[in-house]
Parts: sequence; structure tokens; C-alpha cells
Amino acid sequence: MRTQMFIGGEWTPALGGERLDVIDPATGEVFATVPAAGASDVERAVDSARRAFDHGTWQHTRASERAGLLRRIADAIDARADDLADLETRDNGKPRNEAILDIADAAHTFRYYADMAEEPTIQAVPLPDPRFTGKVALEPVGVVAAIVPWNFPFLMACWKVAPALAAGCTIVLKPSELTPLSALALADIVAGAGLPAGVLNVVTGFGPSAGKPLAAHKGVDKIAFTGSVPTGSALMQQAALDIKRVSLELGGKSPLLVFEDADLDRAAEWILFGIFFNQGQVCAATSRVLVHESIYESLLGKLVSGARAIPIGDGKNPENKLGPLISAAHREKVERFIATGRRDARLITGGGRPAHLERGFFLEPTIFADVPTTSVLWTEEIFGPVVALRPFSSEQDAVSLANASRFGLAAAVFSRDAGRAERVAAALRTGIVWINCSQPAFVELPWGGCKQSGIGRELGRWGYENFLEPKQITTFVADEPLGWY
Ligand code: NAD
Repeated sequence: MRTQMFIGGEWTPALGGERLDVIDPATGEVFATVPAAGASDVERAVDSARRAFDHGTWQHTRASERAGLLRRIADAIDARADDLADLETRDNGKPRNEAILDIADAAHTFRYYADMAEEPTIQAVPLPDPRFTGKVALEPVGVVAAIVPWNFPFLMACWKVAPALAAGCTIVLKPSELTPLSALALADIVAGAGLPAGVLNVVTGFGPSAGKPLAAHKGVDKIAFTGSVPTGSALMQQAALDIKRVSLELGGKSPLLVFEDADLDRAAEWILFGIFFNQGQVCAATSRVLVHESIYESLLGKLVSGARAIPIGDGKNPENKLGPLISAAHREKVERFIATGRRDARLITGGGRPAHLERGFFLEPTIFADVPTTSVLWTEEIFGPVVALRPFSSEQDAVSLANASRFGLAAAVFSRDAGRAERVAAALRTGIVWINCSQPAFVELPWGGCKQSGIGRELGRWGYENFLEPKQITTFVADEPLGWY
């Protein structure tokens, strides 16, 4: 386990010597410490990334070599998958089987962008005037500040690092202060694969003391951020000062619509998965469930019995499907939402701490029914295992209730009628729509949202273009004067 920062190809403590505790959320125990970076450490990391971009070889490395390096990183992730999953489970609390999937997805992300790195970076564009030829050169955007959250620490880092490296950028990665360890493991893997010094730097530390100076640094060309709306908004304002490029993957309050013709048993399982997987700490969690009034009570019954059967406990035990929340403070925040919700709506299961677990930050899977649209349960991203349900009477009613949110990340539709599902999918104002499922994420498809859920898309070609600047090159090829005067 690496517990120093990675700057300019070297493992290093913070210049001020400060460290921060890393806590196992299943036990509440400190099991590691890492450097708590300050502005001077950020300075070193950005300088190193800047030098590697401006004077290094990476951006000019042949595509086949760059792709080969990305594939070596993917192979090394696969080779260390068990250790990485253990680390991620201990650091974040997520069930180990889910951590294994995250690690496999991360390796696939590197392979996917390795292929994209081999595509031509110069494209000819036909022009209507035969005196000119036009082409577009796709060039790396420069030094990237990649700032990521704690809910999928390794995967969120790889969703940024893989396409940024494929594009030829250099990077300063800042993981969340709550889950810094797998980003350091990534640095170790990347260094072992032979990435030149300074191309990837990892700075560990708190948002205000490490993230903020990183985003403000004039040596950074682009901020790629995943996290909360308030932090995203602050970063966008900061980026405006220097016209830095910015892409934001922010929060959500995603609706899931169940029509009267849906398969109810299947819908119930997806609803439970859509809100309780990763303890509900998922940006795209389908936390608002709209159910046609004719099937409302019978679906509630299925959800209650399903939720009560979910095994809760330490994610290190593969039997458990629901682990602890990330921290004591986060659990208290979720509990405050539950306390307010109890006054607004009908609590049909959960709401408390599981009696059999004395240590760790566990919380029962919690379901509220008849939730008013004015309740915080309906309007706020709780980011925990809490789902809000309400009935609807018509398709139009369901779509307008679903769209009445300041967020627009994802939505899910359950119906056996393919025509209705497509029609509703088209009417939903979100970046992602799932039909008869909830939560699958594929590297091949764009990920991101409308409205306050963010700007730009990760993954797929869109995630690659985030890290490219298109440059037009126009040539006058006719053997004649311009004829202007
Ligand atoms: P957060 O905004 O508190 O922190 C995210 C990162 O930003 C952390 O690394 C943090 O240290 C850093 N940070 C905090 N303040 C900063 C500042 N002033 N300047 C620069 N950096 C700063 O979010 P979180 O609590 O870690 O994560 C949860 C949020 O992330 C939720 O809102 C969730 O929806 C969102 N999220 C979105 C996606 C997506 O793809 N849309 C994916 C995962 C999580």
C-alpha cells in the first residue's frame, strides 16, 4: 500500500509534513495515513505536469506506443485486481464484489481508450471552395486537474486518467480525502508500466487546502471534476477567471417510472438495486420512484420484503450486499434527511442503524411512500440508502413529475410496451435513460447529465474529446492571386 504522494515520478510527503487519517468505514478505525497536501505541494505537482507537457515527450509519443502503455496499465490493473478490490473495500466500505466490478471496468476503460489513441488525429474536411484544403488536428488540451469523489474512487479516477493519457495530456489527480489509497495504487501501476515522470501526478489532501489551489492554478488548462453541485459551481466560477476548460459530473435525484404494464417482480429488484447498490452513494441512484396508482400498493409490498432481506455488514465479507456509509459525518447527514422525511411521508421500512452492527457507519435500507413533491426526500440528493416513492395517474403526469427537478442526470422507465418506453425516454430531460433496468454503465456510452447534473460527458468518444483541442489548418492551394485589389 502506497501512502506518499506521487509527484514528478517520485513518492513524496507533503512539504509541511501534515498527514490525514484514512478510516475503514466498516469499523471506524484508522488504518492508514496519507499526506495532506497544501498549496506548495500543488505547486510542485502542477509544475511537474506542466514541464512534462511543455518539454516532455508524452504528447509527441507515437500513437501505437501510447496505446501500448495504456494496455500495459490495463494488464497491471487486472493482475492486481484482488489487492485493488481489497483496498477499495477497506477504504470506501463498498461490498467486495462491487469493488471487483469497479476494478474490471477500470481496466476495460484503459483498453477502450488505448484503441481510441490509435485513431488518426488529423482529419481532412472537404471544403466548398476548391482553392483551399482544410484539415483538423486533434491536439491534447494540456495539463488536466482531475478532481474525483469518494464513491467510486478508483473507477472515477480511471474515467479521467485513461482518456486524458490517450489524448496526450499530463495530469494532476486529486482523490477525495476520504478515499485516497486507490489513486496512489494507480500511480504505482502507471509508473510500473513506464509512463514518463510528471505525466501523472497524484496529490492527496482536503478540498479547500489541496483541491482549491489546484483548480485555481494558472498552469492548469482544464479541470475535469466529479463531485457535488456546490463544489462544481465553485470550480466553474474559478475556471471562468482564466477561461479554463471545465467538465463537471455532478449530483442527481434520478427518477424511476413504473407503468402498470411492467413486470413488477423485475421492477422491484431493479428499484432496490438502483437505490441500495453502493449504499445509495451513487450520483445516478434512482432515488425518486414514480409508480402507477393501480400497482402502487402491491409494488410497495414487494419492495419492503426485498429491502428487509438485503444482508448488511462489512463489505469484506462477500455475503454482504449493503456495506457502511463512507463516514460518521455522512451517516449523520443522511439521518437528518430521514428525520425530516418522517414528518413528511410514510416510512415503510428501515430508517435506523442495524441493531446487530455495533461498529461502523451502517444504515438500514430505507423506503418512504407517499412522499410530497415539496419534501426534501423528493428534492434533495441524499446520497444514501433512502428511496422516495409516490403514485401517478397518467403517463403525462409521470413525465412532468420526473422532469420537475433541478437535476437531469439519469432516469429509468419500466414498461412492457416498447413504444411507450421509447416515447417516455424521449420526453425525459436527462443525460441517461435506462429502459427496464437501472444503473448499468458502459465505457462505450456517454455518461453525464443536463441541468445542474453537470456539463459535458465522460466515457465513449465524448469522454475522449473532453481532453482534445481541435485545431483547424487551412491551406490556399490555388496557383492564382487572391484578387482582393
Ligand atoms: P465533493 O464535491 O465534496 O468532493 C469531490 C472532490 O472535490 C473531492 O476530491 C474533494 O476533496 C474536492 N473538493 C472539495 N472542495 C473543493 C474545492 N473548493 N475546490 C476543489 N476541490 C474541492 O463531493 P463528494 O462528497 O466527494 O462526492 C459526492 C458527490 O459526487 C455527489 O453529489 C455525487 O452525486 C457526485 N458524483 C457524481 C458523479 C457523476 O458522474 N455525475 C459520479 C460520482 C459522484
